[in-house]
Order: sequence, then structure tokens, then C-alpha cells
Amino acid sequence: MKRDPFVMELPQQVIVGRGVLRELGEALQSRGFKDPLFVVGKYTSRFAEGDKLLVERPSKEFLDGVDVDGHDVIVGIGGGKNLDSAKYLSLKSGRPYVLVPTLPSSDGISSPSVSLFSSSGRISLIHRPPLFILMDEEVLSSAPKKYILSGYGDVIAKYSSLYDWWLGHVRTGEYYGYLTSRLGHFAIEHATSARTYLFTPEGVHVLLESLILSGGLIGIQRSSRPASGSEHLISHALDILHLREGRELVPHGIQTGIATVFTSYLQGRNWRWVRGVLDEANFPTTLREAGIDPDLFVDAVLLAPHLRRRHTILHEKKLNRHEVYKILQEVELI
Ligand SMILES: [Zn+2]
Repeated sequence: MKRDPFVMELPQQVIVGRGVLRELGEALQSRGFKDPLFVVGKYTSRFAEGDKLLVERPSKEFLDGVDVDGHDVIVGIGGGKNLDSAKYLSLKSGRPYVLVPTLPSSDGISSPSVSLFSSSGRISLIHRPPLFILMDEEVLSSAPKKYILSGYGDVIAKYSSLYDWWLGHVRTGEYYGYLTSRLGHFAIEHATSARTYLFTPEGVHVLLESLILSGGLIGIQRSSRPASGSEHLISHALDILHLREGRELVPHGIQTGIATVFTSYLQGRNWRWVRGVLDEANFPTTLREAGIDPDLFVDAVLLAPHLRRRHTILHEKKLNRHEVYKILQEVELI
């Protein structure tokens, strides 16, 4: 099955370099923007000069109440929360947007997908790609280690998501893009090539390149399908359960990375390789090390297939609690 026409959408520019954040104002001006709205958090507010929207707890309801009239561009600066909020405000208002990630924590830093919580649960949307992305390596390479690991885990998670996509193609006849899939596997290979020096500026550079490519898969496909399979469903379920119990959220890519050890086992694939490339990067290899309560992880696995109809290995296996525990022991996650 082929798509005709096949439309891909990618950012116009991705600017990666040391100190490039200082050129943000000029980059906006040179494109004719006069009234940007900067979507920031308390740590990233210092990078913005102009009208700011401080995002503490982003939700659809909060963002629906924000008036962007008078602004000609939305600029998200910070981690996932701020970037997703900027994407949503752009989607809602039709204004263009720019991403300035300060943490290399997921492929959301370069993807058109929007992930938000609303009072009725979690919402995932696909928007247009940003006009441009500005990645300041001075800032990104000094990010706390857990966020660098989170970005790495989110790239490794493609090992599982790309296979689930293929499985969906075989079982349901849905479209499968070989180009996209190959690019995704290349992103994994690229990121793992830096696993032994991930926390150096050179390592973060390779990670950023891998994340740009990984986020690009979503733009090429105009769907999060290549980048989000059973491992992401488990991560989404963990977020829901953590919020419900008032616990602190674990970084997205830490969850998707460690869940990939489990889902690649279910897929009958090389989970030992997954565990190995995580371990060699100093990524947590047990749930406790990752800050995830094993009982909660089991709950998440059981909840995950109900969150989205998209076909994954979890929809085929239909595991019970006992079976999940057994597998967790076998893959040494507990
Ligand atoms: Zn992800």
C-alpha cells in the first residue's frame, strides 16, 4: 500500500550550536516578527525578552484561557511542558511557533506532536512542525543527567515503537513507511554510538541529532505512529497513575526507555541488546533505579492497551498481573 500524494512536513530550519540562544531575538526579527509571546517556566524565563506566559502546570483548560491576540509568533522555551504548551497555543490560534528546547529530554523537542493533560485525561494531537528550532548546546549539554538519559531512552524506545507499527501493518493493513522506519533505526544506531560518552558535549550533540531525526519521523509521517508504540502507552499509563496518586512524574524518556526492555521481550526480540545499550549509557536498568514502583508499573501495563486503539504487542498478548510480574523478573527489571 502506498500513499499518494505523500506529504511530509519538516521544520524550515534547525539551528544547533553553542550560544545560539543569544541570537533568538534577532532570529525572530529577521523573519519579520514583532510581538512574540514567550512560553516559559521559572528557570527559562531569563532567556526571554518580551511578553511571557509562565507555565507551571499546563493543562488544556489553562491554555484555552490564554489570549494570544496581539502576538504574531509563539516561542516555547524550556522542557516538554513549555514546548507542548507553545505548540498547543499555536495550533489553537493559527500563529506560527518556534521551539527553543533547554533539555534534551524527548523527541518532542523537534516533533509536531502535542501532548497535554486535560480534566478528562491525556490528549495527543498532531500539529504543523515549528518554523524553526533553536538548540543551544551550551545550555543543553549542561542539563541534569536524568534529562540527557531521558532523551536517550526516548530514542531507544523507537526499537519497540517501529516494530509495533510494523505489527499493526501486518495485522490490520495500516500504512507502514519503510523510509521512516529506516530513518528511525538509524536514529537508534546514531544515539547508541555515543552511549559511552553521552554526558559530554560531543555526546549531547549526537543525542540532539538523533532526537531531531526521531522527531522528524513524526513530521514525515504526520502521525506519532512511528515514534509511539506499546512502550509509550505504558509511559502514558504511568503518568496517569502517578498523577492519580499524587506522585512525582518520572521523565518521559526514562519511562519509555525502560519500558522498551519489557515490550521488546513481548515482541520476541532482542531485549538483552536493549538492556545492554541502556546499561552502557548508565541508564537505570531496574524499575526501582528508574524511580518507578514495580506494582505501579504492572498496573500501567494492564491499563496501557485501553488508552489507545492503535495496534501494539500489548493488544495481542492480553497479559494478566501474574504474567507481567514473571516477565519483569525474567528481564531483570525487578
Ligand atoms: Zn517519546
